[in-house]
Formats: sequence, C-alpha cells, structure tokens
Amino acid sequence: MATGAVGHNVGLAQIALTQRERHMTAFTGQHAAEPIHKGPASGLAPNLEDYDLARSQFSWASARAELAGLPGDALNIAYEAVDRQADGPLADTVALRFLDLGGVAAELTYAQLKRATSRFAGVLEQLGVARGERVFVLAGRIPELYVAALGTLRHGSVFCPLFSAFGPEPIEQRLRLGDARVLVTTVTLYTRRVAGLRPRLPGLAHVLLIGSDAEIEALPGTDDLRALMDRAPDHREPAATAPEDMACLHFTSGTTGEPKGAVHVHEAVVGHRATGRMVLDLHPGDIFWCTADPGWVTGTSYGIIAPLTIGATCVVDEAELAVDRWYGILQDQHVTVWYTAPTALRMLMRAGAEVAHEYDLSALRFVASVGEPLNPEVVHWGQEAFGLPVHDNWWQTETGGIMIANYRSMDVRPGSMGRPLPGVEADVCRRDADDKPLLATDGSLELASEGEQGELVLRPGWPSMFRAYLGDPVRYSERFVGGWYLTGDLVRRDADGYFWFIGRGNDVIKSSGHLIGPFEVESALLEHEAIGEAGVIGKPDPVAGEIVKAFVLLNPGFEPDEELRRDILAFSRRRLGAAVAPREIDFVDVVPRNRSGKIMRRVLKARELGLPEGDLSTMEPGS
Ligand code: ATP
Ligand code: MG
Repeated sequence: MATGAVGHNVGLAQIALTQRERHMTAFTGQHAAEPIHKGPASGLAPNLEDYDLARSQFSWASARAELAGLPGDALNIAYEAVDRQADGPLADTVALRFLDLGGVAAELTYAQLKRATSRFAGVLEQLGVARGERVFVLAGRIPELYVAALGTLRHGSVFCPLFSAFGPEPIEQRLRLGDARVLVTTVTLYTRRVAGLRPRLPGLAHVLLIGSDAEIEALPGTDDLRALMDRAPDHREPAATAPEDMACLHFTSGTTGEPKGAVHVHEAVVGHRATGRMVLDLHPGDIFWCTADPGWVTGTSYGIIAPLTIGATCVVDEAELAVDRWYGILQDQHVTVWYTAPTALRMLMRAGAEVAHEYDLSALRFVASVGEPLNPEVVHWGQEAFGLPVHDNWWQTETGGIMIANYRSMDVRPGSMGRPLPGVEADVCRRDADDKPLLATDGSLELASEGEQGELVLRPGWPSMFRAYLGDPVRYSERFVGGWYLTGDLVRRDADGYFWFIGRGNDVIKSSGHLIGPFEVESALLEHEAIGEAGVIGKPDPVAGEIVKAFVLLNPGFEPDEELRRDILAFSRRRLGAAVAPREIDFVDVVPRNRSGKIMRRVLKARELGLPEGDLSTMEPGS
C-alpha cells in the first residue's frame, strides 16, 4: 500500500520545502433509478443552501463585488488568488501542497506563494516580456508550474499550459498557434522534445529551464529559471490588468478533431470563485484535490485558480492514477473536497468498493466529477465506496468554468449533469436534418420542449466565457446563433430542469430512425458484471443507416468468448430494447482515450472503418 509513502506530516513537508528551497531559493442515466440523497451532514452548511433562491437572487455584478479588485477597475487573477489571502489572516495557511513522485510533500503558504510569484513576474519583466505576450509552461505537476502560472498572471502576460506528455509535434503546433514568447520547461523535456524545434520557432525568445546549473549551462539559447528568480525582487505588485485582458490560452482536448485555442480573460476569476463556492462548496481551509492536470482547463480553473481565491489548500499530486496511491492521498491528506473525472472513478470502481473501505475517508465531504458523462452506476458505487454520491457537472474549455451541476444541497439524479448555475441561462434548441440549429423566421432559435432532445445552448454573458478561438474568428462567430452560444453537445431537459447528456453532436448514432447517444449504451453495458469500460459508435449499415457497435474491456477474471458475447448482447437488449442495444460487440484490451480521460469514439470509428485516425496529439499512449 502506498499510504506510508505519501507524507502528510508537516515537519516532513517543511524539510522537503527547505531542500527544494536550497535548489531554488526563490521559493520553494437517463435510466436513473431512485435519486441519491445527499451525504451525511458534516456540520458545515453548504454555500448554496437553496438552489431556487440562489438562482433568483444571484447576479454576476454581486459576485464581482465580492472580489476586492485592484484600484481603477483593474482585475488580476493572481491578485485574487494569492495576494488577498497572503495579505490577510490566511497568509500562513498552506496554499499548495505538492506530493512528488516519491510521495514526499512540499508546501507553499499563501505568503510564500506571493513571494515566489512576485519573483517570477520580476523575471518576465527583466527579460522585457510585454503584457499580453504568451508564456507557455511544459512541465509535470511540479511547484514551478504553479508558480509560473500565477507569476505570469501577476505579470500581466498570458499563461498557456501544455501537457507534459505531449510529443514534439503537438508542442510545436501549439507554440506556433499561440505565438509563444517564453517557454518554461525542464531540462529533460527541453532536450527531448523542444530543442530540435527551436530553429522553426523564431518568436520563442526565452526558454527558462528547471534543472541543475551544469545541465542548463550546456544548453545554448536557454536560461536558468532558478538563477533568474534568485536575482528578482521579493515583491512585485500585480499588473493592473483590465478585466477583458487576455489571461489564459487553453487548448481543447481534441476529442472531436483538432484542438482549438480558447482565449480567456482576467474577468473569468469572477466565475471561478463563484463556481468554486456554489458547486464545489469550497470553504476557506478546505483541503481540496483536483486531479486534473493544468494542461487541461480543469486543472487550471479548478486545480489552481478557484480554490485559491477561496483560501483553500490545494493538494497537487505529481504521479498518475494508481488505486492505492489515490486512496492514500484522500486519507493521509484529509481531503475534504475532491474533484475528479469519470474515467478515474471507473478505474477505482473496477478495483472494488472494498478497497475504498480499507482507508479512512471520513474527512471527505463532497465529491464531484467532470469531463465526460458520469454513468449512474458510478454514482451509486460512490455512495457505497465513500458514503457520498458523486456530483456530476458539465462545462467545456470554451465556457471556462462550470455551467451545469449537481449541488451539495440537492439530491443527485444519477446520470444527470444537474441544473444550470445561478447566473447561467441554459436551454435546448432543435436541430434540422443537417444537425444545424433550427431558426424561427425572426432569426431566434427554436427551443425544444420538455424531454425533447436537442443541442445545449447557453446565453452568453457569464464572466469565464471564452473571448476567441485564437487565430480562427470564423469558427468563433459560428458558435453564436440567435443570441445563444451553441455548445455542440446534445441533451434533453426534464420537467424539473435537470439536464441529461445524450452525446456530442457528432457522436450521436442514427439507427433506423432512432437517435441514440453512445453514453446511454455505454452506461447500460457498464452495469454488466463483466464489463469495466465501453466505447460505443455508429457503424454504417446499408439498411439501418447505422448500427450500434460496442467495444468493451472486460473486468479482471472474465474471458472473452462467444458465450459471454451472447450474454452481453442479451443483457443489453433487455436493458435498452432491441432498437438501441448494440448489434455488434468487440472485446478490446484498451478503450482509446485522450489525456483528459475522454473516450475517443472518433478513433474507434476510424479504426473500425479503416480510415485515417486524424489528430492524435492528445491521445493517451497505448490507446
Ligand atoms: P474538442 O473540442 O477538441 O473536441 P473536447 O470537447 O473534449 O475536445 P473539452 O473542452 O476538454 O474538449 O471538453 C468539453 C466536453 O466534454 C463537453 O463539450 C462535453 O462533450 C464533455 N463533457 C464535459 N463534462 C461533461 C459531463 N459532465 N457530462 C457529459 N459530457 C461532458
Ligand atoms: Mg469541445
């Protein structure tokens, strides 16, 4: 068991910090059965106690007024996330607690984070980096990544995270699209992935490396981040950025095609804080663990910004998912609020609820999930494993923050992504035969009625909304029709205003006149005892148009054979009806997914049809 390796002892953590400081002086279903009732009262009232009341009273102006802001209408994410706490009673509260690969912890208090990010901002200033220029970070979940993120925002330049597992091609594509001026990375990642690209990236003026002096000295065209930070002053005021100034550039996950660069602004922090409070129920002093990598928007909006604006302590784990390690972290770090993804929960579920019961998870108050539809089976399992339901919520890179959610104070409807955030107007629009939104004669959208499926649309105007697809104004403007933002996802809404995910616009299967969402089929398959993972696609068929085909990964102890295949087919017909159940089932060793954990159905389909697999830059290796 890895628990012993994951230190939570503060003494140990401080020693680790000192060691680090020595190196770097600058710092250290739709078929839902019964609703699941909210978990045991923890004594701490939810931030959002009454959804309808909050919806009627909420305004973005008042959420904005809760932030201190900077003089002269300026607004800076780093000021809200760091300085407000560092200058007040939470100065010595731990802002970030890092667990390295060996499980050793290092901590930064809010006061230390303020100094470290000041120094990083000072480095950018000394290098002559201008406001609005792009600072990319290519690194694992190490302290320098978090300091660079907040230091960049503090400086007024634009933070662009890159997932550390990207190969040279996706790195080059993104550095080029984002017009990178600075790159912060490690010696290893630089030598293996970036050095060879330098001649083709003339705009990349500065590469700041994390590593030993000798290694960095041997690499021409680079600077030693530690040495630069050592020389920078301890204090630097946050830049007086305007709310509409660009703050972050996030690339989408590339699930449906080529990743797009979504531009976000400092005003987004209003949404991050509000959703951190209302949806994740974060309180000052919470121990919060968001398992997403900052390379994806979740890991920045909720792995860095939102919890810090509220004064929580963020746990950051450098390692990838491993069952014992994760339960060990939840236990040893006394995690109170946990934000993770369906793919991770399904993996824990495959290991069995009894494994969870070996750990003391009594500190846990709230569990939330995002990124993919959350199968009802997983919600029920969460209740068994943690004594808490898992609260699904929906959003996308473009929305910058959570839009639709299950709230702590409301019963969870397993399989539903919940109800719109107070301050967010969501609806469902009808689509025509070409999957385009249907417009009324006056140019407004034709909205669907209760229970009818259609495209999820949002009324623009929430603070964390993206302001552009970098370099692609046409694609951006096409997402806005009839006064609404088109999300590209298909949903339906029930009589009580809960939204149910059907599928991504282009994943939906059209079979003999039925519109079938792959999620519905995958969720039903997961209820079969032999199945651990499932990916479902539409396979072209001369008679039906498309038939439903499933690719399934078996749980340990099950062998793929004809008998099992027949059993699964019969099970799914009973569960879904003959029109919706898969007609074909393939047993696979792995269901392809991307690095943010999403099933890559377009890749399953391309492989099935022998077609090119398209952009694979975000694929999980071995998929
Ligand atoms: P790309 O836009 O490049 O194809 P992507 O859409 O996967 O990639 P993200 O912005 O990371 O990139 O993911 C957002 C999408 O993830 C949503 O549009 C939706 O399809 C899916 N998603 C996120 N959360 C949920 C959820 N709770 N339930 C269902 N789907 C979800
Ligand atoms: Mg998308």
